[in-house]
Amino acid sequence: MSYFSDLGLAEPILRALEAKGYSDPTPIQRQAIPALMEGRDLMGIAQTGTGKTAAFALPSLHRLAANPIVKKPASCRMLVLSPTRELAAQIADNMRGYAKHLNLQVDCVFGGVPINKQARRLVAGTDVLVATPGRMLDLIDNRALTLSRVEIFVLDEADQMMDLGFIHALKRVAAMLPAKRQSLFFSATMPRSIEDLGRQFIHNPVKVEVAPQATTAERVEQYVTFINQAEKQALLSLRIRALIADKTLDRSLVFSRTKHGADRIARHLEAAGIEARAIHGNKSQAQRTAALDAFRAGTCPVLVATDIAARGIDVAGVSHVFNFELPNVAEQYVHRIGRTARAGADGVAISLCAPDEKAYLKDIEKLTGVKLMPIPLPENFQANAANLPKPAHKPQDDEHRGGGRNGQDRRGGGPRRDAAPRDGDAPKRHFIPRGGPGVGQHRNKVRRAV
Ligand code: AMP
Repeated sequence: MSYFSDLGLAEPILRALEAKGYSDPTPIQRQAIPALMEGRDLMGIAQTGTGKTAAFALPSLHRLAANPIVKKPASCRMLVLSPTRELAAQIADNMRGYAKHLNLQVDCVFGGVPINKQARRLVAGTDVLVATPGRMLDLIDNRALTLSRVEIFVLDEADQMMDLGFIHALKRVAAMLPAKRQSLFFSATMPRSIEDLGRQFIHNPVKVEVAPQATTAERVEQYVTFINQAEKQALLSLRIRALIADKTLDRSLVFSRTKHGADRIARHLEAAGIEARAIHGNKSQAQRTAALDAFRAGTCPVLVATDIAARGIDVAGVSHVFNFELPNVAEQYVHRIGRTARAGADGVAISLCAPDEKAYLKDIEKLTGVKLMPIPLPENFQANAANLPKPAHKPQDDEHRGGGRNGQDRRGGGPRRDAAPRDGDAPKRHFIPRGGPGVGQHRNKVRRAV
Protein backbone atom coordinates (compact mmCIF):
# COMPACT_ATOMS: atom_id res chain seq x y z
CA MET A 1 0.00 0.00 0.00
CA SER A 2 1.35 3.43 -0.83
CA TYR A 3 1.59 6.44 1.47
CA PHE A 4 -1.18 7.92 -0.62
CA SER A 5 -3.59 5.64 1.26
CA ASP A 6 -2.75 7.56 4.46
CA LEU A 7 -4.33 10.58 2.81
CA GLY A 8 -7.66 8.77 2.56
CA LEU A 9 -7.93 8.70 -1.24
CA ALA A 10 -10.46 6.27 -2.71
CA GLU A 11 -9.23 2.80 -3.63
CA PRO A 12 -9.67 3.17 -7.45
CA ILE A 13 -7.44 6.26 -7.32
CA LEU A 14 -4.82 4.41 -5.27
CA ARG A 15 -4.87 1.63 -7.85
CA ALA A 16 -4.26 4.13 -10.66
CA LEU A 17 -1.36 5.69 -8.72
CA GLU A 18 0.15 2.30 -8.10
CA ALA A 19 0.03 1.57 -11.83
CA LYS A 20 1.84 4.84 -12.47
CA GLY A 21 4.49 3.85 -9.94
CA TYR A 22 3.88 6.74 -7.54
CA SER A 23 4.53 5.61 -4.00
CA ASP A 24 5.03 8.82 -2.00
CA PRO A 25 3.09 12.05 -2.31
CA THR A 26 5.28 15.01 -3.22
CA PRO A 27 5.41 17.87 -0.68
CA ILE A 28 2.67 19.88 -2.41
CA GLN A 29 0.48 16.79 -2.58
CA ARG A 30 1.04 16.13 1.12
CA GLN A 31 0.11 19.71 1.96
CA ALA A 32 -2.79 20.20 -0.42
CA ILE A 33 -4.66 16.89 -0.60
CA PRO A 34 -6.07 16.71 2.98
CA ALA A 35 -7.40 20.31 2.85
CA LEU A 36 -8.85 19.83 -0.62
CA MET A 37 -10.59 16.63 0.39
CA GLU A 38 -12.35 18.64 3.10
CA GLY A 39 -13.59 21.01 0.40
CA ARG A 40 -11.37 23.98 1.33
CA ASP A 41 -10.31 26.60 -1.22
CA LEU A 42 -6.59 26.70 -1.95
CA MET A 43 -4.00 29.25 -2.92
CA GLY A 44 -0.88 27.44 -4.07
CA ILE A 45 2.55 28.74 -4.95
CA ALA A 46 4.21 25.94 -6.86
CA GLN A 47 6.72 25.64 -9.62
CA THR A 48 6.20 23.22 -12.44
CA GLY A 49 7.57 19.77 -11.79
CA THR A 50 6.43 19.70 -8.18
CA GLY A 51 3.50 17.36 -8.80
CA LYS A 52 0.86 20.07 -8.56
CA THR A 53 -1.39 18.50 -11.19
CA ALA A 54 -1.94 15.42 -9.04
CA ALA A 55 -2.19 17.69 -5.98
CA PHE A 56 -5.38 19.20 -7.34
CA ALA A 57 -6.57 16.29 -9.49
CA LEU A 58 -6.55 13.48 -6.92
CA PRO A 59 -8.68 15.06 -4.16
CA SER A 60 -11.04 16.56 -6.76
CA LEU A 61 -11.62 13.22 -8.46
CA HIS A 62 -12.10 11.66 -5.03
CA ARG A 63 -14.80 14.22 -4.16
CA LEU A 64 -16.58 13.94 -7.51
CA ALA A 65 -16.61 10.15 -7.30
CA ALA A 66 -17.87 10.22 -3.72
CA ASN A 67 -20.88 12.26 -4.81
CA PRO A 68 -22.02 10.79 -8.14
CA ILE A 69 -24.71 12.77 -9.95
CA VAL A 70 -26.23 12.49 -13.39
CA LYS A 71 -24.45 14.71 -15.92
CA LYS A 72 -26.44 17.72 -17.15
CA PRO A 73 -26.28 18.83 -20.81
CA ALA A 74 -23.51 21.24 -21.84
CA SER A 75 -22.11 21.42 -18.34
CA CYS A 76 -19.17 20.22 -16.29
CA ARG A 77 -18.70 19.51 -12.59
CA MET A 78 -15.04 20.46 -12.51
CA LEU A 79 -13.39 23.15 -14.63
CA VAL A 80 -9.62 23.46 -14.96
CA LEU A 81 -8.35 26.54 -16.80
CA SER A 82 -4.86 26.41 -18.25
CA PRO A 83 -3.04 29.14 -20.18
CA THR A 84 -1.76 27.00 -23.05
CA ARG A 85 -3.05 24.22 -25.26
CA GLU A 86 -0.18 21.88 -24.49
CA LEU A 87 -0.58 22.26 -20.76
CA ALA A 88 -4.35 21.74 -21.04
CA ALA A 89 -3.81 18.53 -23.02
CA GLN A 90 -1.21 17.36 -20.51
CA ILE A 91 -3.46 18.02 -17.51
CA ALA A 92 -6.34 16.20 -19.19
CA ASP A 93 -4.10 13.23 -19.97
CA ASN A 94 -2.91 13.06 -16.38
CA MET A 95 -6.45 13.32 -15.06
CA ARG A 96 -7.67 10.55 -17.36
CA GLY A 97 -4.89 8.37 -15.98
CA TYR A 98 -5.83 9.09 -12.37
CA ALA A 99 -9.54 8.58 -13.15
CA LYS A 100 -9.20 5.41 -15.19
CA HIS A 101 -10.87 3.19 -12.58
CA LEU A 102 -13.57 5.77 -11.81
CA ASN A 103 -16.76 6.38 -13.70
CA LEU A 104 -15.80 9.97 -14.51
CA GLN A 105 -15.39 11.56 -17.92
CA VAL A 106 -12.52 13.98 -18.60
CA ASP A 107 -12.68 16.28 -21.63
CA CYS A 108 -10.33 18.92 -22.97
CA VAL A 109 -11.02 21.93 -25.20
CA PHE A 110 -8.60 24.47 -26.65
CA GLY A 111 -8.22 26.71 -29.69
CA GLY A 112 -6.56 25.89 -32.98
CA VAL A 113 -8.86 22.94 -33.72
CA PRO A 114 -12.47 22.98 -34.98
CA ILE A 115 -14.94 24.11 -32.35
CA ASN A 116 -17.93 22.10 -33.63
CA LYS A 117 -16.50 18.76 -32.69
CA GLN A 118 -15.77 20.05 -29.21
CA ALA A 119 -19.29 21.46 -28.93
CA ARG A 120 -20.77 18.10 -29.95
CA ARG A 121 -18.74 16.30 -27.30
CA LEU A 122 -20.15 18.62 -24.66
CA VAL A 123 -23.81 18.13 -25.58
CA ALA A 124 -24.34 15.45 -22.94
CA GLY A 125 -22.13 17.25 -20.42
CA THR A 126 -18.92 16.02 -18.85
CA ASP A 127 -17.49 15.55 -15.38
CA VAL A 128 -14.12 17.28 -15.79
CA LEU A 129 -13.38 19.90 -18.41
CA VAL A 130 -9.83 21.15 -18.95
CA ALA A 131 -9.81 24.27 -21.14
CA THR A 132 -7.92 27.30 -22.34
CA PRO A 133 -9.92 30.45 -21.56
CA GLY A 134 -10.47 31.73 -25.11
CA ARG A 135 -11.97 28.54 -26.50
CA MET A 136 -14.02 28.00 -23.36
CA LEU A 137 -15.59 31.46 -23.72
CA ASP A 138 -16.28 30.77 -27.40
CA LEU A 139 -18.12 27.60 -26.42
CA ILE A 140 -20.10 29.51 -23.81
CA ASP A 141 -20.96 32.23 -26.35
CA ASN A 142 -22.14 29.47 -28.73
CA ARG A 143 -24.31 28.06 -25.95
CA ALA A 144 -22.39 24.81 -26.07
CA LEU A 145 -21.27 25.16 -22.46
CA THR A 146 -22.55 26.60 -19.20
CA LEU A 147 -20.52 27.07 -16.02
CA SER A 148 -23.61 27.06 -13.81
CA ARG A 149 -22.93 23.57 -12.47
CA VAL A 150 -19.24 23.86 -11.70
CA GLU A 151 -18.52 22.39 -8.27
CA ILE A 152 -14.72 22.63 -8.42
CA PHE A 153 -12.85 25.38 -10.24
CA VAL A 154 -9.08 25.27 -10.79
CA LEU A 155 -7.09 28.17 -12.18
CA ASP A 156 -3.63 26.93 -13.08
CA GLU A 157 -0.54 29.05 -13.85
CA ALA A 158 -2.35 32.24 -12.85
CA ASP A 159 0.69 34.45 -13.41
CA GLN A 160 0.95 33.24 -16.97
CA MET A 161 -2.78 33.90 -17.45
CA MET A 162 -2.19 37.51 -16.44
CA ASP A 163 0.85 37.83 -18.69
CA LEU A 164 -1.20 36.62 -21.61
CA GLY A 165 -3.84 39.26 -21.08
CA PHE A 166 -6.52 36.85 -19.89
CA ILE A 167 -7.57 39.14 -17.06
CA HIS A 168 -10.87 40.20 -18.67
CA ALA A 169 -11.67 36.63 -19.64
CA LEU A 170 -11.09 35.57 -16.04
CA LYS A 171 -13.34 38.32 -14.72
CA ARG A 172 -16.09 37.02 -17.01
CA VAL A 173 -15.51 33.50 -15.74
CA ALA A 174 -15.67 34.67 -12.11
CA ALA A 175 -19.10 36.19 -12.79
CA MET A 176 -20.43 32.99 -14.39
CA LEU A 177 -19.33 30.48 -11.77
CA PRO A 178 -21.85 29.48 -9.11
CA ALA A 179 -21.22 31.16 -5.76
CA LYS A 180 -21.14 27.81 -3.98
CA ARG A 181 -18.09 25.99 -5.26
CA GLN A 182 -14.57 24.98 -4.34
CA SER A 183 -11.82 27.06 -5.94
CA LEU A 184 -8.14 26.32 -6.35
CA PHE A 185 -5.67 28.90 -7.52
CA PHE A 186 -2.10 28.02 -8.54
CA SER A 187 0.71 30.30 -9.57
CA ALA A 188 4.46 29.88 -9.81
CA THR A 189 4.96 33.40 -8.51
CA MET A 190 2.65 35.43 -6.32
CA PRO A 191 3.16 39.15 -6.82
CA ARG A 192 0.49 41.48 -5.44
CA SER A 193 -1.48 41.64 -8.70
CA ILE A 194 -1.85 37.85 -8.83
CA GLU A 195 -2.89 37.68 -5.19
CA ASP A 196 -5.56 40.32 -5.91
CA LEU A 197 -6.80 38.28 -8.86
CA GLY A 198 -6.92 35.20 -6.64
CA ARG A 199 -9.17 36.97 -4.16
CA GLN A 200 -11.85 37.20 -6.84
CA PHE A 201 -12.05 33.42 -6.91
CA ILE A 202 -11.11 31.99 -3.56
CA HIS A 203 -12.48 32.41 -0.06
CA ASN A 204 -10.59 31.70 3.13
CA PRO A 205 -8.09 29.49 1.33
CA VAL A 206 -5.54 27.16 2.78
CA LYS A 207 -2.19 28.40 1.53
CA VAL A 208 0.49 26.02 0.32
CA GLU A 209 3.91 26.92 -0.93
CA VAL A 210 6.38 24.27 -1.96
CA ALA A 211 9.35 26.37 -2.90
CA PRO A 212 10.24 29.88 -1.88
CA GLN A 213 8.96 32.30 -4.46
CA ALA A 214 11.11 32.41 -7.60
CA THR A 215 13.66 29.95 -6.25
CA THR A 216 15.76 28.68 -9.11
CA ALA A 217 15.50 24.94 -9.56
CA GLU A 218 18.17 23.69 -7.22
CA ARG A 219 19.76 21.02 -9.30
CA VAL A 220 20.21 23.12 -12.45
CA GLU A 221 23.78 24.12 -13.24
CA GLN A 222 23.58 27.58 -14.72
CA TYR A 223 26.01 29.12 -17.17
CA VAL A 224 26.24 32.21 -19.30
CA THR A 225 28.26 33.04 -22.39
CA PHE A 226 28.72 36.69 -23.29
CA ILE A 227 28.43 37.00 -27.03
CA ASN A 228 27.23 39.37 -29.72
CA GLN A 229 23.69 38.72 -30.90
CA ALA A 230 24.85 38.09 -34.47
CA GLU A 231 27.12 35.23 -33.33
CA LYS A 232 24.61 33.43 -31.13
CA GLN A 233 23.27 31.13 -33.79
CA ALA A 234 26.71 29.78 -34.66
CA LEU A 235 27.56 29.26 -31.00
CA LEU A 236 24.30 27.44 -30.37
CA SER A 237 24.78 25.12 -33.33
CA LEU A 238 28.38 24.33 -32.35
CA ARG A 239 27.51 23.72 -28.71
CA ILE A 240 24.56 21.45 -29.47
CA ARG A 241 26.49 19.54 -32.10
CA ALA A 242 29.32 18.93 -29.63
CA LEU A 243 26.91 17.86 -26.88
CA ILE A 244 25.18 15.41 -29.20
CA ALA A 245 28.53 14.09 -30.41
CA ASP A 246 29.75 13.28 -26.90
CA LYS A 247 26.30 11.95 -25.93
CA THR A 248 25.80 14.46 -23.10
CA LEU A 249 22.60 15.85 -24.53
CA ASP A 250 19.39 13.85 -24.20
CA ARG A 251 16.91 16.52 -25.10
CA SER A 252 17.35 20.25 -25.28
CA LEU A 253 14.88 23.10 -25.17
CA VAL A 254 16.00 26.33 -26.80
CA PHE A 255 14.06 29.46 -25.84
CA SER A 256 13.52 32.24 -28.29
CA ARG A 257 11.79 35.52 -27.47
CA THR A 258 9.91 35.62 -30.78
CA LYS A 259 8.00 33.18 -32.95
CA HIS A 260 9.92 34.18 -36.04
CA GLY A 261 13.18 33.82 -34.12
CA ALA A 262 12.20 30.29 -33.06
CA ASP A 263 11.62 29.27 -36.68
CA ARG A 264 14.91 30.77 -37.77
CA ILE A 265 16.88 29.07 -34.99
CA ALA A 266 15.34 25.69 -35.87
CA ARG A 267 16.18 26.13 -39.55
CA HIS A 268 19.81 27.01 -38.77
CA LEU A 269 20.12 23.99 -36.47
CA GLU A 270 18.68 21.75 -39.17
CA ALA A 271 21.15 23.18 -41.68
CA ALA A 272 23.95 22.34 -39.25
CA GLY A 273 22.80 18.71 -39.22
CA ILE A 274 20.86 18.88 -35.94
CA GLU A 275 17.29 17.57 -35.88
CA ALA A 276 15.22 20.45 -34.48
CA ARG A 277 11.64 21.68 -34.53
CA ALA A 278 10.02 24.93 -33.49
CA ILE A 279 6.89 25.24 -31.40
CA HIS A 280 5.01 28.51 -30.96
CA GLY A 281 1.62 30.13 -31.25
CA ASN A 282 1.67 30.61 -35.01
CA LYS A 283 2.09 26.91 -35.71
CA SER A 284 -1.02 24.88 -36.40
CA GLN A 285 -2.16 22.62 -33.62
CA ALA A 286 -1.16 19.59 -35.70
CA GLN A 287 2.38 20.97 -36.08
CA ARG A 288 2.62 21.74 -32.38
CA THR A 289 1.46 18.27 -31.42
CA ALA A 290 3.77 16.59 -33.93
CA ALA A 291 6.78 18.61 -32.71
CA LEU A 292 6.06 17.83 -29.08
CA ASP A 293 5.47 14.14 -29.81
CA ALA A 294 8.78 13.90 -31.71
CA PHE A 295 10.57 15.65 -28.85
CA ARG A 296 8.93 13.42 -26.27
CA ALA A 297 9.73 10.28 -28.28
CA GLY A 298 13.36 11.36 -28.62
CA THR A 299 13.32 11.36 -32.43
CA CYS A 300 13.88 15.11 -32.40
CA PRO A 301 16.34 16.05 -29.64
CA VAL A 302 15.97 19.83 -29.92
CA LEU A 303 12.78 21.81 -29.50
CA VAL A 304 12.94 25.56 -30.08
CA ALA A 305 10.11 27.28 -28.25
CA THR A 306 8.72 30.61 -27.25
CA ASP A 307 7.94 31.00 -23.57
CA ILE A 308 4.24 30.65 -24.09
CA ALA A 309 4.43 27.38 -25.95
CA ALA A 310 6.87 25.84 -23.51
CA ARG A 311 5.12 26.74 -20.30
CA GLY A 312 4.18 23.71 -18.27
CA ILE A 313 5.36 21.18 -20.83
CA ASP A 314 6.36 18.11 -18.88
CA VAL A 315 8.85 16.11 -20.89
CA ALA A 316 11.20 13.82 -19.04
CA GLY A 317 14.88 13.83 -19.89
CA VAL A 318 15.42 17.47 -20.86
CA SER A 319 19.13 17.66 -20.11
CA HIS A 320 19.82 21.16 -21.42
CA VAL A 321 17.95 24.43 -21.62
CA PHE A 322 19.41 27.16 -23.82
CA ASN A 323 18.29 30.75 -23.50
CA PHE A 324 18.99 32.11 -26.96
CA GLU A 325 17.86 35.45 -25.62
CA LEU A 326 17.53 36.28 -21.97
CA PRO A 327 13.95 36.86 -20.90
CA ASN A 328 13.21 40.47 -20.00
CA VAL A 329 11.09 39.31 -17.07
CA ALA A 330 13.33 37.60 -14.54
CA GLU A 331 10.61 35.18 -13.31
CA GLN A 332 10.44 33.78 -16.82
CA TYR A 333 14.02 32.58 -16.45
CA VAL A 334 12.96 30.45 -13.49
CA HIS A 335 10.18 28.87 -15.55
CA ARG A 336 12.48 28.20 -18.45
CA ILE A 337 15.21 26.47 -16.50
CA GLY A 338 12.52 24.57 -14.57
CA ARG A 339 12.00 22.56 -17.78
CA THR A 340 15.16 20.66 -16.94
CA ALA A 341 16.10 19.00 -13.65
CA ARG A 342 12.56 17.64 -13.34
CA ALA A 343 11.71 14.62 -11.26
CA GLY A 344 15.07 14.33 -9.52
CA ALA A 345 17.27 14.61 -12.62
CA ASP A 346 20.18 17.01 -13.01
CA GLY A 347 20.02 19.70 -15.64
CA VAL A 348 22.07 22.37 -17.30
CA ALA A 349 20.93 25.84 -18.35
CA ILE A 350 23.06 27.94 -20.69
CA SER A 351 22.21 31.53 -21.43
CA LEU A 352 23.59 33.47 -24.36
CA CYS A 353 23.88 37.08 -23.25
CA ALA A 354 24.38 39.93 -25.73
CA PRO A 355 25.77 43.26 -24.51
CA ASP A 356 22.30 44.83 -24.43
CA GLU A 357 20.95 41.97 -22.29
CA LYS A 358 23.28 42.47 -19.34
CA ALA A 359 20.60 44.35 -17.41
CA TYR A 360 18.28 41.32 -17.76
CA LEU A 361 21.05 39.08 -16.45
CA LYS A 362 21.48 41.33 -13.45
CA ASP A 363 17.74 41.13 -12.71
CA ILE A 364 17.81 37.34 -13.00
CA GLU A 365 20.78 36.97 -10.67
CA LYS A 366 19.15 39.33 -8.18
CA LEU A 367 15.89 37.39 -8.23
CA THR A 368 17.42 33.92 -7.98
CA GLY A 369 20.38 34.79 -5.78
CA VAL A 370 22.52 32.67 -8.10
CA LYS A 371 25.43 34.02 -10.08
CA LEU A 372 25.61 32.35 -13.47
CA MET A 373 29.01 30.86 -14.20
CA PRO A 374 30.58 32.41 -17.32
CA ILE A 375 31.76 30.05 -20.07
CA PRO A 376 34.12 31.62 -22.58
CA LEU A 377 33.63 31.16 -26.30
CA PRO A 378 35.05 27.89 -27.63
CA GLU A 379 38.54 27.88 -29.08
CA ASN A 380 38.56 28.54 -32.83
CA PHE A 381 35.00 29.75 -32.54
CA GLN A 382 35.22 32.20 -35.44
CA ALA A 383 36.74 29.60 -37.80
CA ASN A 384 34.26 26.88 -36.83
CA ALA A 385 31.36 29.32 -37.03
CA ALA A 386 32.38 30.33 -40.54
CA ASN A 387 32.21 26.71 -41.62
CA LEU A 388 28.66 26.16 -40.44
CA PRO A 389 26.19 25.66 -43.27
CA LYS A 390 23.29 28.13 -43.44
CA PRO A 391 19.73 27.14 -44.32
CA ALA A 392 18.43 27.80 -47.80
CA HIS A 393 16.16 30.81 -47.96
CA LYS A 394 12.59 30.10 -46.93
CA PRO A 395 9.76 32.64 -47.07
CA GLN A 396 8.93 34.02 -43.61
CA ASP A 397 5.38 32.80 -43.82
CA ASP A 398 4.68 33.10 -40.14
CA GLU A 399 6.26 36.46 -39.50
CA HIS A 400 4.09 39.29 -38.18
CA ARG A 401 0.94 37.20 -38.15
CA GLY A 402 -1.71 38.04 -35.56
CA GLY A 403 -2.29 36.01 -32.41
CA GLY A 404 -4.84 33.26 -31.88
CA ARG A 405 -8.17 33.71 -30.23
CA ASN A 406 -7.31 31.79 -27.12
CA GLY A 407 -4.56 34.16 -26.25
CA GLN A 408 -1.49 31.98 -25.95
CA ASP A 409 -0.33 33.48 -29.18
CA ARG A 410 -0.80 37.07 -28.22
CA ARG A 411 2.44 37.86 -26.54
CA GLY A 412 5.03 37.87 -29.27
CA GLY A 413 8.54 39.08 -28.73
CA GLY A 414 9.37 42.49 -27.35
CA PRO A 415 10.34 45.40 -29.50
CA ARG A 416 13.99 44.34 -29.61
CA ARG A 417 15.10 42.93 -32.91
CA ASP A 418 17.95 40.56 -32.90
CA ALA A 419 20.83 41.05 -35.27
CA ALA A 420 21.45 37.44 -36.23
CA PRO A 421 22.20 37.00 -39.93
CA ARG A 422 19.06 36.72 -42.01
CA ASP A 423 18.37 33.49 -43.79
CA GLY A 424 19.92 33.08 -47.16
CA ASP A 425 22.62 35.65 -46.52
CA ALA A 426 25.34 33.13 -47.12
CA PRO A 427 25.61 30.51 -49.84
CA LYS A 428 24.95 26.97 -48.66
CA ARG A 429 28.17 25.31 -47.58
CA HIS A 430 29.01 21.70 -47.21
CA PHE A 431 28.62 20.33 -43.71
CA ILE A 432 32.00 19.32 -42.31
CA PRO A 433 31.76 17.89 -38.82
CA ARG A 434 34.45 19.21 -36.52
CA GLY A 435 35.28 18.39 -32.94
CA GLY A 436 33.33 19.94 -30.10
CA PRO A 437 34.07 23.49 -29.18
CA GLY A 438 36.64 23.92 -26.44
CA VAL A 439 35.63 25.77 -23.36
CA GLY A 440 38.89 27.32 -22.21
CA GLN A 441 39.77 27.62 -18.55
CA HIS A 442 36.50 26.14 -17.26
CA ARG A 443 36.97 23.10 -19.40
CA ASN A 444 36.80 20.42 -16.73
CA LYS A 445 33.82 21.76 -14.88
CA VAL A 446 31.99 22.74 -17.99
CA ARG A 447 32.76 19.68 -20.10
CA ARG A 448 30.57 17.68 -17.79
CA ALA A 449 27.90 20.31 -18.10
CA VAL A 450 27.88 21.54 -21.63
P1 AMP B 1 3.54 18.46 -12.44
O1 AMP B 1 4.22 19.42 -11.49
O2 AMP B 1 2.12 18.25 -12.09
O3 AMP B 1 3.77 18.84 -13.88
O4 AMP B 1 4.24 17.01 -12.23
C1 AMP B 1 5.57 16.77 -12.55
C2 AMP B 1 5.86 15.29 -12.82
O5 AMP B 1 5.89 14.52 -11.62
C3 AMP B 1 4.84 14.61 -13.72
O6 AMP B 1 5.55 13.84 -14.66
C4 AMP B 1 4.05 13.69 -12.79
O7 AMP B 1 3.57 12.57 -13.49
C5 AMP B 1 5.09 13.34 -11.76
N1 AMP B 1 4.51 13.07 -10.40
C6 AMP B 1 3.50 13.72 -9.82
N2 AMP B 1 3.27 13.23 -8.58
C7 AMP B 1 4.17 12.24 -8.38
C8 AMP B 1 4.45 11.35 -7.28
N3 AMP B 1 3.77 11.42 -6.14
N4 AMP B 1 5.45 10.47 -7.42
C9 AMP B 1 6.17 10.42 -8.58
N5 AMP B 1 5.96 11.23 -9.66
C10 AMP B 1 4.98 12.14 -9.56
